[in-house]
Amino acid sequence: MCVCFSCRLLAFWSFLQTSMTEPGFVPKDFCDQVAQAREAAAEAGDRVWRPGEASTCGKCRQSRPERAHHCSICGRCVLRMDHHCPWVGNCIGFANHKYFIQMTMYGMLACATFVLTAMPEFWLVFVGKKHRKGRSAFRAQLPIKDQMLFSLAGMLALSFSVALGVLFCSHIFLLVKNLTSIEMAYRGGNPYDLGKRRNASQLLGEMDASWLLPIAPARPLSDGLSFPSARQAQGRSHVDVAPIGRRDVDDGV
Ligand SMILES: [Zn+2]
Ligand SMILES: [Zn+2]
Repeated sequence: MCVCFSCRLLAFWSFLQTSMTEPGFVPKDFCDQVAQAREAAAEAGDRVWRPGEASTCGKCRQSRPERAHHCSICGRCVLRMDHHCPWVGNCIGFANHKYFIQMTMYGMLACATFVLTAMPEFWLVFVGKKHRKGRSAFRAQLPIKDQMLFSLAGMLALSFSVALGVLFCSHIFLLVKNLTSIEMAYRGGNPYDLGKRRNASQLLGEMDASWLLPIAPARPLSDGLSFPSARQAQGRSHVDVAPIGRRDVDDGV
């Protein structure tokens, strides 16, 4: 009972955090910094990795850091954007992707525990021991309206647990690969791949109890504006400050 309640509470909490937390927009300071340092090296191409490079959005015409993309629904560029989620009415970006993953995890667990704890009743309703009238004893006691509601709730919970489970697994895959859904379509190897645990820490912060709670990372490793590349992590780069380039392309998301 305690586990069921905790899963539901954490699922609802994660949902609120995903829906109400700004996904991370480009700060004005960043645009000013780019404007001062820019060498106007326009580059063509799209859907390719550009670690350490700023770009100019083709739609809102503002500078944006690496891994930021334009959301046509929000009308703004979002830091480390993953996708726009209509279910929560918000973009999923650097600042709330963690909550989104937790929402799928706790939502899946909440639905799964509902199905599992109600399994004996489901068994009685759908299979159960037949009594002399050919209906299960439990089923015979329930009005037809309650039977339908009970069945509908069970099927919805089962469907949601499967759908959320698939979503959770796909985002765990992205998390440990240090990828976003948009970057899955990029060509070439992922320059941000630092190894599973360090990849997860880029979004969740240093590993601690906050990984499990829908709160901001206690020890964040990134501000969403720049991300260490595998090349830098291996000490093969002598670049201290990320170079700022420019490309006049629109990522169209
Ligand atoms: Zn934009
Ligand atoms: Zn959006």
